Amino acid sequence: MAILRFEALKKLHERNAVTVSSPSPKVSDFFGENVFGTEPMRASLAPAVFKKVTSAIKNHEKIDEVTADAVASAAKAWAMNKGATHFTHWFQPMTGGTAEKHDSFFDALAGIEKFKGSELVQQEPDASSFPSGGIRSTFEARGYTAWDPTSPMFLYGKTLCIPTIFVSYTGETLDAKSPLLKALKSVDVSATRVCQLFDKDIQHVIASLGPEQEYFVVDEALFTARPDLVMAGRTVFGHAPARGQQMEDHYFGSIPSRVYDFMKDFEFECWKLGIPVRTRHNEVAPSQFEVAPLFEEVNVANDHNQLMMDVMGRVAERHNLKVLFHEKPFAGLNGSGKHNNWSLITDTGINLYAPSSSARDNLLFLTFFVNTIKAVHQYADLLRASIATAANDFRLGANEAPPAIMSVFIGAQMTAVLDEMEKKGNVKIEKGDNMYMKLGIDQIPEIILDATDRNRTSPFAFTGNKFEFRAVGASDNCATPMAVLNLIVAEQLDQFYDAVSREMEKGAEKRLAIVTVLRKYIKESKDIRFEGDGYSDEWVKEAARRGMKNIKNMPRAIEAYLSKESIKLFEKHGVMSHKELEARNEIRLEAYIKRVQIEARVIGDLAMNHIIPTAIAYQNKLIQNANGLKGLGVDNKAVIQTIKEISGHIDTIKNGVRQMIEERKRINKITDTHKRAFAYCDDIKEKYFDEIRDAVDKLELLVDDEDWPLAKYREMLFLR
Ligand code: ADP
Ligand code: MG
Repeated sequence: MAILRFEALKKLHERNAVTVSSPSPKVSDFFGENVFGTEPMRASLAPAVFKKVTSAIKNHEKIDEVTADAVASAAKAWAMNKGATHFTHWFQPMTGGTAEKHDSFFDALAGIEKFKGSELVQQEPDASSFPSGGIRSTFEARGYTAWDPTSPMFLYGKTLCIPTIFVSYTGETLDAKSPLLKALKSVDVSATRVCQLFDKDIQHVIASLGPEQEYFVVDEALFTARPDLVMAGRTVFGHAPARGQQMEDHYFGSIPSRVYDFMKDFEFECWKLGIPVRTRHNEVAPSQFEVAPLFEEVNVANDHNQLMMDVMGRVAERHNLKVLFHEKPFAGLNGSGKHNNWSLITDTGINLYAPSSSARDNLLFLTFFVNTIKAVHQYADLLRASIATAANDFRLGANEAPPAIMSVFIGAQMTAVLDEMEKKGNVKIEKGDNMYMKLGIDQIPEIILDATDRNRTSPFAFTGNKFEFRAVGASDNCATPMAVLNLIVAEQLDQFYDAVSREMEKGAEKRLAIVTVLRKYIKESKDIRFEGDGYSDEWVKEAARRGMKNIKNMPRAIEAYLSKESIKLFEKHGVMSHKELEARNEIRLEAYIKRVQIEARVIGDLAMNHIIPTAIAYQNKLIQNANGLKGLGVDNKAVIQTIKEISGHIDTIKNGVRQMIEERKRINKITDTHKRAFAYCDDIKEKYFDEIRDAVDKLELLVDDEDWPLAKYREMLFLR
């Protein structure tokens, strides 16, 4: 192993930058060239067909067979013209990532290239290898993928990819996208109804998402020399480097040239695929970076994020790099999140979370603003559940990451507005360059808005014209948290609409009815608001005092999906059935168990077969040295002390690994998946992982660097 480490380091020093050049000096020349989007469709479809497709997309309607045939034939011609030979339904199974099953356009029987509407609309991938949480085994053995026309087809390599949902034959959804689409439809309907209290012209409300993606980059050879990175996506051992993130010189610092070339390269690829990637800068930790696309409609933005992660992985290979999307690849350093910037925008172009100078629009803004806070307050447990993954457990509440307590940050200005609204008092008007917030109703004050008010420690923060759900993990599929967020807001808006209607039935004027209900909501949801340091211990205590939950692990967090209230909510909006919710939790728990099992094995294997033999060999050298010193009559106390320390750590590791194996044997016999997952969490991960790691990391400091088998943090984290 030590040999592998040094060979990798040698390779690292011999690496040359892989230069890349833009396909064209102007990005607009090639942006979206591999997307069968609106323009290629308009150009290749008969106007009537084109109109049918676009209106079906807008109104969430089904596309008929004749139209599908026309679209398939146009898409085939477009793709083949660009060199495509195959097509695939592209979907997002619950295992994470994306899945494909490629079919050739070439029909050997007919001797020509073919692509029928029926093949576009529906396919049957071999679904047996995808998890179904017991749905398929009990009901129907097969599943199918079905075209999602709201996300454009794209050409990836030589394959035409068709975004699809994945459903079992009995109709249960088996993927991340389906519940999202249903939640988006629900929020569209509910939000539009509320908007029409203000403006009858609004026919649709579209949810938008801009996911900022954090990631680490390491050299491919060093990655390969770390079996834990290969197997578990994170380092299970490793002492923090002397020069860590405490210096914060990496943040917004210059990007290492190899990474810079990699970034340029994947940006070109993303642009061709119509993914509007926009910013890049270094993150807090060394070797950590971020890519933020321009926001888009949620479903498209999420497909783009999934695709972008795939593109990044592939392009990294060309640069002998590995991208780590794991939420916590390096202990003690910043974790990686995927900040979900989210808002609701009307089809008339109004961002419902942007305050403006118009009084009417501001009451509209306040309506959505307050209802969103109320929704988070009401369904905090579900939001927490929606971001729960095994890997995110390592990140939440640890160095520079939001805690597992759900709260909302709104900034000093909006706090003042809400406080004032609650009290009916007045707020001073300050003049300056800042924007005014005028509400035009006696009871509501005018106030300055300061968009620069930021809090980076909150899991859910208002950032001037959008909310930023920062607790989402870097490797996660945004569809899961986005389905929950849009669903709970939809439900809350329904509640609001009904409450306002009741007030009006009692004779209240519409705007006053709205204000009355909002005022009530502000009071009721006050506890979810927190403006202080979310990373602090005080907040943990304060949150406990407020009765807020701080669920630290995934198996317990996802139980919220199965509460009575949650099942009712999901079923009412047709987002998921009770059975689907149960199946999904089952899948998640099974995946969790597998992950902890894998990590426990990696820890055991590395510790017993690599770390301990290395430590013993080094100890033997020290023993020789101690004996030599003794023969010369020189004091050898210090050496003997080190020998003893090493023995102590070896004992800790051996005992830990042995006990962990015994525990696993016991736990594996537990038949209930929930209980087995809890046991893996409490009795394996929590009990042994840190203890063993601590001993190994101490050995790393004691053993001769020349002998140490694992690539060290400082070697992996400081790329040039
Ligand atoms: P930060 O200061 O949080 O790092 P960035 O400017 O890097 O902010 O990223 C902000 C993200 O939010 C971008 O992806 C941007 O497109 C997105 N965004 C901006 N406005 C909206 C909106 N109305 N809805 C959703 N996302 C938005
Ligand atoms: Mg951000």
